[in-house]
Amino acid sequence: MNITLTTKIADAGSIYKKYAPRLEKLGIFTFEDFLYHTPSRYDDFSQITKIGEAENGKAVSIRGTVLSMTNTYTRSRMVIQKAVVTDGTGTVDVTWFNQPFLTRQIKTNDIISLAGTIEQTGVKRTMLSPEFEILVNEEQDTIHTTGLVPVYHTTQGISSKWVRRQVHMLLKDFFFHHSEELKATSESTAQQDSGHHSSPETAQTRATILHDHLPESVRQQYNFIDLQSALQKIHFPNDYEEIGKAKERLAFDELFLLQLQSLHRRHIWKESIQTQALSIDQKKIDQLVGALPFQLTDAQKRAVTTIFQDLQQTKPMNRLLQGDVGSGKTIVATIAMYIAVLNNKQAVLMAPTEILAEQHYKSIKNLLDPLGVKIELVTGSTKRIKNTKSRIKEKTKQTSHNSSFIIHHSNVLIGTHALLYSKADFSNAGLVVIDEQQRFGVEQRAIIREKGNNPHILTMTATPIPRTMALTVYGDLDVSYLDQMPQGRKYIKTWLVPPEKREGAYEWMQKQITETDSQAFIICPFIEESENMQTIKAAKVEYERLQKDIFPNLRLGLLHGKMKAKEKDDVLVEFKDKKYDILVATPVVEVGIDIRNATIILIEASERFGLSQLHQLRGRVGRGDKQSYCLLFTESQNSETITRLKAMETLHEGAKLAELDLKLRGSGDLYGTMQSGYRMLKIASFSDVHLIEKARASARNVYNKIDEFPDLKNLIIEKTKKKISQD
Ligand code: ADP
Ligand code: MG
Repeated sequence: MNITLTTKIADAGSIYKKYAPRLEKLGIFTFEDFLYHTPSRYDDFSQITKIGEAENGKAVSIRGTVLSMTNTYTRSRMVIQKAVVTDGTGTVDVTWFNQPFLTRQIKTNDIISLAGTIEQTGVKRTMLSPEFEILVNEEQDTIHTTGLVPVYHTTQGISSKWVRRQVHMLLKDFFFHHSEELKATSESTAQQDSGHHSSPETAQTRATILHDHLPESVRQQYNFIDLQSALQKIHFPNDYEEIGKAKERLAFDELFLLQLQSLHRRHIWKESIQTQALSIDQKKIDQLVGALPFQLTDAQKRAVTTIFQDLQQTKPMNRLLQGDVGSGKTIVATIAMYIAVLNNKQAVLMAPTEILAEQHYKSIKNLLDPLGVKIELVTGSTKRIKNTKSRIKEKTKQTSHNSSFIIHHSNVLIGTHALLYSKADFSNAGLVVIDEQQRFGVEQRAIIREKGNNPHILTMTATPIPRTMALTVYGDLDVSYLDQMPQGRKYIKTWLVPPEKREGAYEWMQKQITETDSQAFIICPFIEESENMQTIKAAKVEYERLQKDIFPNLRLGLLHGKMKAKEKDDVLVEFKDKKYDILVATPVVEVGIDIRNATIILIEASERFGLSQLHQLRGRVGRGDKQSYCLLFTESQNSETITRLKAMETLHEGAKLAELDLKLRGSGDLYGTMQSGYRMLKIASFSDVHLIEKARASARNVYNKIDEFPDLKNLIIEKTKKKISQD
């Protein structure tokens, strides 16, 4: 079997086949992916320590001769392996567990390299389960036990050691072949039999030359090391400086390719797709805007103007409207939808949840109904009336008939994101609006294009994204910011509450709720992804404690992530109808849910959240006219944590908090809801503003003359295609 870098692991023969599904979990599909599976950290075994000088409890690398190696059977039928190793300065007793085959690998008189922790009791030194390598001679290079040893993200059945060996083999083979090929080309002789020069260890693997796609001029401009060295050094560095240089080069590549893909998608979108241009009937729009009970903010006016310019083009709009919770995105979208309707086209709006879809339905109907626009709501629960099996069938038939009827006869169609994956066709849609778009939407935009005739698309999000991140992940979109709140909107007063003020805070809440007839959220400290039965139980316990001990005179409700969608909706509706004074919830409280009478939000263990997340949670209140409050509880004493949380008291713009978050914590765990966002980056980081700027500038430059780089061009075309179908 001829294995190249692009060979799929699953196709690489029986030895690899069983590893393939496990490797896929790590994002490794081909042999090349091994090279880009970069270490998560390095174990520092750069000093080889003399056994006699090893300090108790310290991780060390030692080298010595095996004096003995035996299997010992314990009474509990366990097999343990015991070796005695010396280097002349002392001896160490080494123990492994349940690996009887080790006596075949480690033999008396072998030279062995060991990495692990030495424990010393009296004069006796022991090592438990160290990493080991048998050396042919004292000087031999090691990959597992000396130097900076790479440690990888692993999964069950895949050890760091195994990955290390694969990477090492691949790099060795790749370099070997690379120099062979160079020689071959310089001698202008075609290599006939390419099998003869493989070492026995790598006889199976025949890596093709890894092509460096980065234009040489760009590499030189920034003084980056070459790709081969970068890959070699990221896995097997000699020192930390080499890791830095390798990382910089590979991170740049990653960002550069992403930017090129964005540019390419944007190019396709702008150059090769046509749609119907919509005309603007300013009089009708003035009528709609004039009937609003408020003036549009300047930011809203700017967004509307830009959107109008987009809609008048035959190139479909592909715009993201970003604005904090409450900045008034809906009305901007509604105005755009009205334009579509005035052009005898349909407008479709999709929200992430049914509750939000209904909310939109009501408010948009209020605005557009008087103007003679027909609006329909299509959600799962409209179809959810069922009793017996036959009735389900009947209903389903009826509704699918109904919804296609609705879809063709209404001007504005409102539903959930599920509409995308339903049979609904958007062939008469002139504009599709996606509200609270959490994912990056490449896939969604592709589906919309397929379902319709390339309608104009407006996506909206309240998720604050730092600029660098937006440029990287939304690079193919045009972005409008609503960076201004409607007039008279009050900031949500925010306090960080130390443990000693907890009781006082509860009392204040009780008073506030009763005296101003308000409602409150209490957010329990469970992060959504980790919500399991245990945390649900904890939420219940907390809910009962609050009801019994703290607020016996108030009515409390409970909402958590393991409830069915319908149950969640019911609880929220009850809360909205003031059946509860306080809703105890895990952080699942739906994005954008509008409960105007809720004016207090208390967040437990607030230090566990990023500032952006806290800001989003805080946005659940402050939706009505009353002054709203956010109480951040924390038991943390850490001064950095306190400073970070204190920022919530003074900063009220999502974008500012997002920037700060990125600076303080890095992008790693910030965007709970945007995981696809940071999984996009394997090596680079969104906090590396300078590198991102460099990559952007270079990508723009190179894309303008992409025909000079045919390989790179093909790669981008391939990657862009894949992204669309895979996402
Ligand atoms: P979001 O951007 O979070 O989706 P919405 O569109 O739901 O915000 O708007 C929040 C509230 O503000 C709505 O009740 C809306 O009617 C109101 N609103 C929107 N624009 C303005 C404005 N310019 N002045 C006053 N109120 C506004
Ligand atoms: Mg909204």
